[in-house]
Amino acid sequence: MSAPVLELAGLTRRYAGLVAVDEVELAVQPGTVHAVIGPNGAGKTTLFNLISGIVVPSEGTIRFLGQDVTAAPPFKRAAAGMGRTFQNIRIFAEMTVLENVLTGLAPGFTGGLLAVVAMLPGLRRAEREARTRALEVLDIVGLADRAHVPAASLPYGDQRRLEIARALASAPRLILLDEPAAGMNPAETVALGALVRRIRDAGTTVLLVEHDMGFVMELSDRVTVLNFGRRIFEGAPDTVKREPTVIEAYLGPKVATRLAGVTT
Ligand code: ATP
Repeated sequence: MSAPVLELAGLTRRYAGLVAVDEVELAVQPGTVHAVIGPNGAGKTTLFNLISGIVVPSEGTIRFLGQDVTAAPPFKRAAAGMGRTFQNIRIFAEMTVLENVLTGLAPGFTGGLLAVVAMLPGLRRAEREARTRALEVLDIVGLADRAHVPAASLPYGDQRRLEIARALASAPRLILLDEPAAGMNPAETVALGALVRRIRDAGTTVLLVEHDMGFVMELSDRVTVLNFGRRIFEGAPDTVKREPTVIEAYLGPKVATRLAGVTT
């Protein structure tokens, strides 16, 4: 096995009397789709916030691409190649689809104020490159033909794809997707699954939190299950959906039976 993209050791976050994330160990292998599942309040969002640097751990370490980033602020993790989307859509509604993606490009890609004033040739080139890159990622998520419409005019599923495009703009090595299928209709969810596979196949490792179990089981290479902040199981989707502790803590017998029919 190659070196993990992301490695968590003993990761813990306490809130006055409550342990939201409790000594979690996790190794995300490159080129995989890795899902984190568990009941409401299991600690999934806190885990994502710890990984991206929004929340500071009480204990434990986070290694990203071999570097200890436990104390690094979010922008440094982003600059090192970590992208993310959020549970609730966060787009600039008044801006065009293309402009939204341009906001996701690494700072080095855009000129500073002085460069803007002077209109240096380097800036023009950087602008052209940024637009080319933004159009490329819009093509990847299937929104290239909507580049110039206001983001607010996109249907819900497309707004979520736009968020993914923005997170992909700076070519991250790892992308964290927080409930990407939430609120999507079945057709949108199928299209999202195909998109996540394309992202993985293009070389970006994917870590996702998701409640849609059909989506998770069909798409993921590996699944980690949290309950009350603790990792209670980890394995291939096939093993997870048959694991009695997971069925008891989260899936329930009905969902487990339905999932048993999904080939992974
Ligand atoms: P969901 O599936 O509902 O999004 P989750 O698995 O993402 O849930 P978290 O949101 O990470 O769970 O919450 C884990 C636990 O930590 C919950 O009991 C929650 O109330 C608690 N918690 C999270 N953030 C804070 C905070 N800032 N202050 C106090 N408690 C918190």
